[in-house]
Amino acid sequence: MKETVMIQTHSRVEMIDITAKIQEVIDRSGVRDGICVVFVPHTTAAVTINENADPDVRNDIMAHLGEMIPPRRSFLHVEGNSDSHIKVSLTGSSGTVMVDEGRLDLGTWQSIFFCEFDGPRNRRCTVKVIGEKDVPHS
Ligand code: ZN
Repeated sequence: MKETVMIQTHSRVEMIDITAKIQEVIDRSGVRDGICVVFVPHTTAAVTINENADPDVRNDIMAHLGEMIPPRRSFLHVEGNSDSHIKVSLTGSSGTVMVDEGRLDLGTWQSIFFCEFDGPRNRRCTVKVIGEKDVPHS
């Protein structure tokens, strides 16, 4: 099964924890043992897995990406958002997590983050869950 998860972003750059929304898709799928793929079908938004405990990790990631790849007028791309496109290529458009006993098998401090690089916008990601469902006991 594949599901689309809608995400409303609120600023130009932002990391949003979407772990709970992805877990809900797994719950609906009924898969107990398998893999979950999260794909972001946008060219200026991405997905990454990183620390959820200290929000300053998120802030540092976004601030440092912004320092490494500042918006510049010298980019060739006429939309003027080449910094956003470059950040997506560095961050990645998909993530894969194992599903174990029906749960995302993330580390204690890990979450799945939707990365907005050219917001605010209405965004989406697609989630595919593949695996074995509960076998009824006979
Ligand atoms: Zn563009």
